[in-house]
Amino acid sequence: MIRDIRLYGDAVLRRPADAVSDFGGHLRQLADDLLATQDDAGAVGLAAVQIGVNLNVFSIDGTQMHRRGQREVLVNAVLADADGEEVEEEGCLSFPGIFAEIARPKWVAIRARDINGEIVEREAKGYLARAYLHEIDHLSGRLFTDLMDPDTRVEVMRKLKSVLAQRRPENPAPRARCGDVPYRPSAADSAGYGIDDP
Ligand SMILES: [Zn+2]
Repeated sequence: MIRDIRLYGDAVLRRPADAVSDFGGHLRQLADDLLATQDDAGAVGLAAVQIGVNLNVFSIDGTQMHRRGQREVLVNAVLADADGEEVEEEGCLSFPGIFAEIARPKWVAIRARDINGEIVEREAKGYLARAYLHEIDHLSGRLFTDLMDPDTRVEVMRKLKSVLAQRRPENPAPRARCGDVPYRPSAADSAGYGIDDP
């Protein structure tokens, strides 16, 4: 089911998500909802808190990056390791219409569980690494605006205010293909960044 996406200002986005301890049927439903909502928005990733569910769960679709990344839902993910730094444009479904350059590690290793509770490990570079980091941040209540320099943040907040004003029910904005870390292939991506080769 496609769920409503919580926008900046909603308290759930600042609340650290609870770890999942029950890998039951409700988790499968949440996973389906995350993937459906992510696809509908044309996004690469979506954290459960963004649909109002305060659990440490996110969806990610590495296949959108023309790489061998997985389309999956990860649970209780933690950043195991990171290296390098790269600045790229980033967006977030909870900040419609907002994009800004954000510095993030270039390579990451993630430890998580799949929806069956099995431990999984993932490594990624470039844009997929950025997507993992963006979603893991959501689950601790951190937003990409927290990583902006103060001037950019002020500018972004001003723009967001006007975007949200235009999205009032009497004046709905058309759905844009943007999203949580929207995929825009960069030169670096084309040069081979993406998920590590097996
Ligand atoms: Zn986001």
